Amino acid sequence: MTDPTQTPDPVTLYEGADLLTLDPAQPLIRKGAIAVSGTHILAVGPQAELAKAYGDHAQRVDWSGRLVLPGLVDGHSHLFQSLGRTLGDGLSLLPWLERFMLPLAAHVTRDDAIAIYRLAGLSALMLGTTAVIDNHYAPVDPETIVALAHEMAGVGLRGVVARGIFGPMVEGGRRMNCDPRLFRYSVAEEIALTRACLTEHPPGGLVEIWPMPENVVYLDPDLMIACAELATEQDIGWQIHCSESKFEVEIFESLYSLRPAIWMQAQGILSDRTSLAHGIWFDDAEIEALGATGTQIVHNPVCNQYLASGILKLEPLLAAGANVSLGSDGMAVGGSGMFEAMKAGFLLQRLRELNPLATSAELMLEMATLRGAKLLRRDVGQLQAGRLADFVALDMRGAVHQPMTRPAMAVVMAGLPPITDVVINGDVVISAGRSTRLDHDKVIADGVQAASDLIDRAGLRDLVRDWIAPVRSVCANF
Ligand SMILES: [Zn+2]
Repeated sequence: MTDPTQTPDPVTLYEGADLLTLDPAQPLIRKGAIAVSGTHILAVGPQAELAKAYGDHAQRVDWSGRLVLPGLVDGHSHLFQSLGRTLGDGLSLLPWLERFMLPLAAHVTRDDAIAIYRLAGLSALMLGTTAVIDNHYAPVDPETIVALAHEMAGVGLRGVVARGIFGPMVEGGRRMNCDPRLFRYSVAEEIALTRACLTEHPPGGLVEIWPMPENVVYLDPDLMIACAELATEQDIGWQIHCSESKFEVEIFESLYSLRPAIWMQAQGILSDRTSLAHGIWFDDAEIEALGATGTQIVHNPVCNQYLASGILKLEPLLAAGANVSLGSDGMAVGGSGMFEAMKAGFLLQRLRELNPLATSAELMLEMATLRGAKLLRRDVGQLQAGRLADFVALDMRGAVHQPMTRPAMAVVMAGLPPITDVVINGDVVISAGRSTRLDHDKVIADGVQAASDLIDRAGLRDLVRDWIAPVRSVCANF
């Protein structure tokens, strides 16, 4: 155990909670403690032991009765889409993009994006997320992207602003009926703009900027390759939407005579720094290619059900060697956060295989923490000495969550988590259910106002309906 008098920063001791560590050496510590110094975890163990080692020199925080787990990593989100939360329901992916999301995105201003980043970031924290890979594609000028990276860090989150890249309009975009207003730059211009973001906000901090060519189907192939090369050069990750709907794969195959993952493998752009959001419609050869290259896949089980896109083949991907993590895909696709993603993934995979052994609470926790950490390329995801100090505390003592015989199962089934405290990078960013940095009421009011103004500006007011009568409704006759 490290001598507390020898640590460069003061030690804080969070003590008394049960710890779900995700460390196989001691997965559950009842009445445990976590010692934190600076940005890192110094020690994890039984409270009595750590109190003895650090108690005299530490600031002591009583977390008795809480349950603590590593912070959850949202591997794929669109924070700005909270501006359209609860709208656009009843559409599958292509019309959802064409009639709702892309017109909305085309009208988002920098101020809208900042207002909603604060609100959606606060919401993520209150739902136990400590890191987000956020695909932001409205607007994407370097000033906005860098401002959003600062906002994300300001809220207290770790993560990535993945700059949405469309490039020039190509045949795939025309076939997908994509909004031409989003396709404004050449390949060279997109790379130069992303490079400008990276110069202004270099990799390595709490929040990074990554390139995100938006979609395998509707992007110029040279642009995808250039983004992958830029990521390698800068030693960062890159992400792309891939094989979310069956229809997209059919368009890709008709254009390139190969399935998307096979095409990407042939270009040499699959690796562990490549992450594919959704990844539902892969065939066996693609799964083999993804496993052989250690490619990252982000499973978004709530969104995939909401848009009726399909079910990811979890076990085959894991067996092949791909790293599969979890994402929320944002608030506009039926999502609320990572606890819902864990529960949805848990249930959905059992249904896919018609097998109650297809998933476990522990696997879902791994996907939301350790596997997410691998995707993020950061040393988080475990309560273990030497790791970055990102963890969340829940109060599961209320009527909603008791009795709690098996904590791992209880948190994955929790749905909405009773988060009390959040520590990121060693800093307390949520304390007793409130942000230590933001005025909740103002953040909510500003986000609501920005959404309302945007709906009018984008001409989407017709999507706002008080009530949509269900098919075969009985309401009127009762
Ligand atoms: Zn997405």
